[in-house]
Amino acid sequence: MSTQDINVKQQPAVAATGGDTDTLLATEQLTKKFGGLTAVDSVDFSITEGEIRCLIGPNGAGKSTLLELITGQLSPTEGNIYFDGTDLTGLDTHARIDTGLSVKFQSPHVYENLSVTENLRVPLQRTDRDTQRVLAETLDRIALSGEADTQASELSHGEKQRLEIGMAITLDPKLMLLDEPVAGMSIDETDDVAKLIRSLHDDGMTFLVVEHDMEFVRRISERVTVLDQGSILRQGPIEDIESDDEVRRIYLGEDA
Ligand code: ADP
Ligand code: MG
Repeated sequence: MSTQDINVKQQPAVAATGGDTDTLLATEQLTKKFGGLTAVDSVDFSITEGEIRCLIGPNGAGKSTLLELITGQLSPTEGNIYFDGTDLTGLDTHARIDTGLSVKFQSPHVYENLSVTENLRVPLQRTDRDTQRVLAETLDRIALSGEADTQASELSHGEKQRLEIGMAITLDPKLMLLDEPVAGMSIDETDDVAKLIRSLHDDGMTFLVVEHDMEFVRRISERVTVLDQGSILRQGPIEDIESDDEVRRIYLGEDA
């Protein structure tokens, strides 16, 4: 590859997520290596403002690693991440949250010994938002108003997951990242989370959701990205993805 080719590839993309574009998040040649293993391999990925994007792919495809690179839990081996006109690459997780990112990880990270309301107060400590109003709105939104004083350890799995989504939305993020939000949930619990995501989306929140449950993916998302061995295999409308032979073979485990 000539120097010129490299320059063409590495044009600053920060403007590509700026105020006068529809792109909210963009990664550029994003790479993460763990020793000899390349978990995320030169990924150019972008999300449009206002969409719900689902990220699917077989176990070990690099989905969680990609999310952790975006939030700053991991730092990239190479490449950059741009969000809403800011280069996030060198920022720590707190600084990224201040730019309007929020995340809910794979397993619940609620404070078991605190009440539902006390859990929701934790992220608000860092802000000057109107705590009472936000608490009431959030409790209502996650349908836990009746459990406001209940200790988190008493909640069901589905309620804990909703509480954690609640904690993540108290700061009114522009982009919400969710890693397997309905893993281990009953049909009713899954239904509640789908409704919650749709209602937040209706109010303008953008989502990137990692999920295995294709029924759930179909319910919440129009566009899907398929990751395989650290690279984007396919990207497109859910119907195209589900009928794609290669996707069915590697992901859905069917013979093409
Ligand atoms: P997914 O979420 O798609 O199942 P991951 O992002 O968790 O995949 O993992 C991608 C690959 O990177 C896997 O091969 C996994 O074993 C490896 N990996 C993930 N995190 C680490 C780590 N902290 N150290 C070493 N290898 C890791
Ligand atoms: Mg994962």
